[in-house]
Amino acid sequence: MAQRPYIVGNWKMHGTRAMLSEARAIDRAAERLLKAEVALAPPFTLIHATRHEAGLIGVGAQDCHIAEGGAHTGDISAAMIKDAGGSFVIVGHSERRADHGESDAVVKAKADAALAVGLAVIVCVGETEAQRDAGTHEAVVAAQIEGSLPLGDAVVDKVTVAYEPVWAIGTGRTPTVDDVAAMHRSIRAKLVEIYGPAGGQVRILYGGSVNAGNAAELLAADEVGGALVGGASLTAEKFLGIIAAA
Ligand code: PGA
Repeated sequence: MAQRPYIVGNWKMHGTRAMLSEARAIDRAAERLLKAEVALAPPFTLIHATRHEAGLIGVGAQDCHIAEGGAHTGDISAAMIKDAGGSFVIVGHSERRADHGESDAVVKAKADAALAVGLAVIVCVGETEAQRDAGTHEAVVAAQIEGSLPLGDAVVDKVTVAYEPVWAIGTGRTPTVDDVAAMHRSIRAKLVEIYGPAGGQVRILYGGSVNAGNAAELLAADEVGGALVGGASLTAEKFLGIIAAA
């Protein structure tokens, strides 16, 4: 692997201040951090404190609003995330696509809003089990890439893609290494189509039931540049196990 793998923990709706000790422990494992570029996306309420407690790793958010600000009760803008110390935003996670009806166009607008204030983006894509069974998974993901990714030469180095098959998230099931590699090659081809040669450098993370036991083989698959980790990022012990395997 040319670049160091990028290992990102997505805490989802988990975490009170008591969990900051996990972020601190991850941050303190300095020699393991040399193996990989490591980041955490805690809930909004912990971004500022996580940035404060953990100085070496990246800190970001799990979502942002499409608007710069204004009358949007309960929402959080990209500029607020930046102000809190965040450096990236995850957009288009399948839980947001499902729970909040986010379309590809909304996901793209969120990515554009994040990039406009200088944040990097991790854009999530992935097929459902029914789509995989029907054999349409590559076409589904290609359409998501086309509809969700921000465009332009100026943004390409701020973009990461996360391939997360919906049926593998939180289930303990993963695609085979060959299936992961095939999908990542297909995503790579699409990125080159969209961005030209620069699309060859965009990192493509795999996500969905990554743990310390399967991380090494998943990360070694063709075109896999890192992992987006949910459940196994909630404790330093588990997350550092994944980083050690990277
Ligand atoms: P999981 O979640 O690792 O718990 O499967 C991954 C994700 O949804 O990002």
